[in-house]
Amino acid sequence: MARTQGHGNPNWTRDETILALDLYLKLNGDVPSPKSEAIRELSSLLRSLPYHAEAAKQPTFRNPDGVGFKLMNIRQVATGKGLGNVSNMDRQVWTEFGHRPDEVHRIATAIRVGIAAASSGQLPDVDQELPEGRLLTALHLRRERNPKVRSLLLDARRPSGLRCEICELSRPTLEISMQEAIFEAHHLVPLAEAGERKTRLADLALLCACHRLIHRVMVSKTRWVGLAEARALLAPG
Ligand SMILES: [Zn+2]
Ligand SMILES: [Zn+2]
Repeated sequence: MARTQGHGNPNWTRDETILALDLYLKLNGDVPSPKSEAIRELSSLLRSLPYHAEAAKQPTFRNPDGVGFKLMNIRQVATGKGLGNVSNMDRQVWTEFGHRPDEVHRIATAIRVGIAAASSGQLPDVDQELPEGRLLTALHLRRERNPKVRSLLLDARRPSGLRCEICELSRPTLEISMQEAIFEAHHLVPLAEAGERKTRLADLALLCACHRLIHRVMVSKTRWVGLAEARALLAPG
């Protein structure tokens, strides 16, 4: 019976599983031979991704056979037949995205595009993975920490006073540099939607430690959460 975790290779990440599910859905559940172009293309993409330390990879890492097995595992989850070998990650990703092929495809495409941007060495560790997966989470954080993006936002908000856009916290009596230290920029548009477009002011919100909270809510709901919903959930009553 097919096994995907075999040969001592690292477990499949959420992003890798999303890429496999995207291919599975595109093929309408017909799993082709490991020699097929579709499987070989995904295999070579996965082998090039910066998710796993080189030392952890066996020569068989994400080879065409392994990718074919993964597609069969996804088919097992999808059809409910022969569930013995599927992983929790397979189930989780199927539950979230199995019936949302357009969303899977958007995220898979953004991951593919993002790979180039993230290709310098290994991906930074993220302690919370947003619904879009690890690579897009890392890019989201990198985008928000870009000093240019943050100062664009601070410049725009300074005249009317710095205030958290979720909980309305502000400290107008503090010196301005102290006030600024309270706030971070949060990007409102999922990377899977925004693609490569340049960050605009309208895409940003100024947040205090509520920034960690809104990320946390997305992690626990495993979907994107906008400002209005975050305010309803997090702002003091
Ligand atoms: Zn706040
Ligand atoms: Zn954010």
